[in-house]
Amino acid sequence: MIEFGPHLVRPSYHRDPWFAGSETSDRVYSWQCVSCQVDVHASLETILREAWSWETHLGEELATAATSHFELNAVGKSHDGGWPSVLLVPCVSCGARYLLYAGVNEPSNSVYRVVIQGLSEVRGLTSACS
Ligand SMILES: [Zn+2]
Repeated sequence: MIEFGPHLVRPSYHRDPWFAGSETSDRVYSWQCVSCQVDVHASLETILREAWSWETHLGEELATAATSHFELNAVGKSHDGGWPSVLLVPCVSCGARYLLYAGVNEPSNSVYRVVIQGLSEVRGLTSACS
Protein backbone atom coordinates (compact mmCIF):
# COMPACT_ATOMS: atom_id res chain seq x y z
CA MET A 1 0.00 0.00 0.00
CA ILE A 2 1.62 3.24 -1.17
CA GLU A 3 1.27 6.20 1.15
CA PHE A 4 2.49 9.75 0.81
CA GLY A 5 3.79 12.11 3.45
CA PRO A 6 2.74 15.77 3.55
CA HIS A 7 3.23 17.94 0.48
CA LEU A 8 6.65 19.56 0.91
CA VAL A 9 5.99 21.32 -2.39
CA ARG A 10 2.44 21.55 -3.68
CA PRO A 11 1.54 21.86 -7.39
CA SER A 12 0.85 25.41 -8.54
CA TYR A 13 -0.19 27.03 -11.81
CA HIS A 14 1.80 30.17 -11.00
CA ARG A 15 5.16 29.11 -9.60
CA ASP A 16 8.31 30.71 -11.00
CA PRO A 17 10.72 28.32 -12.70
CA TRP A 18 13.52 26.81 -10.64
CA PHE A 19 15.67 26.66 -13.76
CA ALA A 20 15.59 28.49 -17.09
CA GLY A 21 18.41 28.32 -19.61
CA SER A 22 20.73 25.95 -21.40
CA GLU A 23 23.57 25.34 -18.90
CA THR A 24 22.07 22.20 -17.47
CA SER A 25 25.17 20.21 -16.55
CA ASP A 26 25.83 21.03 -12.90
CA ARG A 27 22.41 22.00 -11.63
CA VAL A 28 21.05 20.00 -8.71
CA TYR A 29 17.76 20.42 -6.87
CA SER A 30 18.11 19.57 -3.19
CA TRP A 31 15.99 19.50 -0.07
CA GLN A 32 16.36 18.35 3.50
CA CYS A 33 15.25 14.83 4.39
CA VAL A 34 12.33 15.04 6.82
CA SER A 35 13.59 11.97 8.71
CA CYS A 36 17.30 12.63 9.11
CA GLN A 37 17.85 16.23 7.88
CA VAL A 38 20.52 15.20 5.37
CA ASP A 39 20.38 16.89 1.95
CA VAL A 40 18.67 14.83 -0.78
CA HIS A 41 19.60 15.60 -4.39
CA ALA A 42 18.12 15.24 -7.85
CA SER A 43 20.12 16.45 -10.85
CA LEU A 44 18.53 18.64 -13.48
CA GLU A 45 19.67 16.22 -16.17
CA THR A 46 17.78 13.39 -14.48
CA ILE A 47 14.67 15.57 -14.24
CA LEU A 48 14.93 16.39 -17.96
CA ARG A 49 15.51 12.77 -18.94
CA GLU A 50 12.62 11.39 -16.89
CA ALA A 51 10.12 13.70 -18.60
CA TRP A 52 10.12 11.06 -21.35
CA SER A 53 10.28 7.89 -19.28
CA TRP A 54 8.96 8.41 -15.75
CA GLU A 55 5.80 6.37 -16.21
CA THR A 56 7.81 3.37 -17.37
CA HIS A 57 10.49 3.76 -14.69
CA LEU A 58 8.08 4.18 -11.78
CA GLY A 59 5.95 1.26 -12.84
CA GLU A 60 2.19 1.26 -13.16
CA GLU A 61 1.27 1.22 -9.47
CA LEU A 62 3.53 4.08 -8.40
CA ALA A 63 2.87 6.10 -11.58
CA THR A 64 -0.87 5.84 -10.94
CA ALA A 65 -0.42 6.85 -7.28
CA ALA A 66 1.77 9.79 -8.32
CA THR A 67 -0.75 10.94 -10.93
CA SER A 68 -3.45 11.01 -8.27
CA HIS A 69 -1.30 12.53 -5.51
CA PHE A 70 0.01 15.37 -7.68
CA GLU A 71 -3.33 15.78 -9.50
CA LEU A 72 -1.84 15.35 -12.94
CA ASN A 73 -4.47 15.75 -15.62
CA ALA A 74 -5.48 13.31 -18.31
CA VAL A 75 -3.97 15.47 -21.06
CA GLY A 76 -0.53 14.70 -19.66
CA LYS A 77 0.61 18.29 -19.13
CA SER A 78 2.19 19.62 -15.96
CA HIS A 79 0.55 22.42 -13.97
CA ASP A 80 2.81 24.99 -15.67
CA GLY A 81 1.90 23.68 -19.11
CA GLY A 82 5.04 21.61 -19.66
CA TRP A 83 5.77 17.92 -19.61
CA PRO A 84 5.55 16.25 -16.22
CA SER A 85 8.66 14.51 -14.91
CA VAL A 86 8.34 12.40 -11.76
CA LEU A 87 11.36 10.90 -10.00
CA LEU A 88 11.76 8.50 -7.13
CA VAL A 89 14.73 9.83 -5.13
CA PRO A 90 16.18 8.03 -2.10
CA CYS A 91 17.85 9.66 0.88
CA VAL A 92 21.31 8.06 0.82
CA SER A 93 21.60 8.40 4.58
CA CYS A 94 18.39 6.86 5.97
CA GLY A 95 16.72 5.25 2.96
CA ALA A 96 13.60 7.44 3.03
CA ARG A 97 12.23 7.83 -0.48
CA TYR A 98 10.80 10.90 -2.13
CA LEU A 99 8.70 11.52 -5.17
CA LEU A 100 9.70 14.71 -6.96
CA TYR A 101 7.44 16.17 -9.63
CA ALA A 102 8.67 18.84 -12.03
CA GLY A 103 7.23 20.48 -15.14
CA VAL A 104 9.62 20.61 -18.09
CA ASN A 105 9.36 23.00 -21.02
CA GLU A 106 11.73 23.38 -23.96
CA PRO A 107 10.80 26.83 -25.33
CA SER A 108 13.57 26.65 -27.92
CA ASN A 109 16.10 24.01 -28.89
CA SER A 110 18.14 22.90 -25.84
CA VAL A 111 16.79 25.77 -23.74
CA TYR A 112 14.80 24.46 -20.80
CA ARG A 113 12.39 25.88 -18.31
CA VAL A 114 11.81 23.69 -15.27
CA VAL A 115 9.25 24.30 -12.52
CA ILE A 116 9.42 22.21 -9.35
CA GLN A 117 5.80 21.23 -8.84
CA GLY A 118 5.60 18.62 -6.14
CA LEU A 119 7.58 16.82 -3.48
CA SER A 120 6.45 14.24 -0.95
CA GLU A 121 7.93 11.36 0.96
CA VAL A 122 6.55 8.05 -0.28
CA ARG A 123 6.18 4.98 1.92
CA GLY A 124 5.00 1.44 1.55
CA LEU A 125 6.82 0.68 -1.67
CA THR A 126 7.80 -2.86 -2.42
CA SER A 127 11.47 -3.43 -3.22
CA ALA A 128 10.59 -3.82 -6.91
CA CYS A 129 9.98 -0.08 -7.08
CA SER A 130 13.44 1.00 -5.95
ZN1 LIG B 1 17.13 10.69 5.37
